[in-house]
Amino acid sequence: MTENPSRVVIVTGGSRGLGAGIVQSYLDTGDIVATCARSGTGQIDKWLADPATRDRLLFREVDLSDRAATAAFVKEVFDHWGQIDVLVNNAGVARDGVLGLASDDDIDAVIDLNLKGTLQITKLVSRRMLARGSGSIVNISSIVGLSGYRGLSVYSATKAAMDGLTRALARELGSRGIIVNSVAPGYLRTEMSHGLDEAQLGQIVRRTPAGRLGEPADVARLVQFLTAPENDYLTGQVIVIDGGLTA
Ligand code: NAP
Repeated sequence: MTENPSRVVIVTGGSRGLGAGIVQSYLDTGDIVATCARSGTGQIDKWLADPATRDRLLFREVDLSDRAATAAFVKEVFDHWGQIDVLVNNAGVARDGVLGLASDDDIDAVIDLNLKGTLQITKLVSRRMLARGSGSIVNISSIVGLSGYRGLSVYSATKAAMDGLTRALARELGSRGIIVNSVAPGYLRTEMSHGLDEAQLGQIVRRTPAGRLGEPADVARLVQFLTAPENDYLTGQVIVIDGGLTA
């Protein structure tokens, strides 16, 4: 096991949507990327078939609400490359509906992934970063963690909790060379926003000063900025990226 000159980046939920955009941006900057999701996609197959990326991408089918599976994934990444420089906690799930009618299973699914899953992988990766004295962690939260959204109470609660985690961890790890931030996107064009109908999407676009929904590449650029080796001072923050919607 030798020190690796490229950065080793873990992006959770990199099989589609925002996570795939973030994986792509780290592959574009020449980094090594490990990602996981419950199942593969055509995008994962494409990266694994491409000679330019296949040796720099590790994909594993992992359910991040399963602690043992998460631990095995982190161990495999570390055993393979001997370091973890960046962790992007992107995998997340939303279940629509008013809280009074939510099933216990739906509440558990959102908390088990968004909050407990994030805590578990961050615990395991931060240990490795602490031993090395460097690293950068980004939690993908959401503007609804700041403002709330009708029908997304549980999801909003988990995103606000992730922002609390960001602030506490930045204090806990700052003196050990580890940067921690939250990125809170507005509405992105991904599978998760397919639950919104055309009228809702039209209203969001009309209220957005930038005049469009967000794209994964918009958010990926911000994540790259926060996790760049040059950033050793911007930490403990929740950075909103929403085209001005909540300005
Ligand atoms: P998405 O298209 O639904 O993708 C979610 C990713 O997470 C997929 O790769 C999915 O793969 C993976 N995932 C889901 N459950 C998992 C589990 N239990 N274990 C491991 N991986 C799992 O969602 P997205 O829109 O890209 O959202 C990405 C992040 O951005 C989320 O944290 C979301 O809350 C946040 N966000 C999204 C929006 C938006 O408008 N879309 C706005 C603000 C914030 P599998 O299903 O195969 O597991």
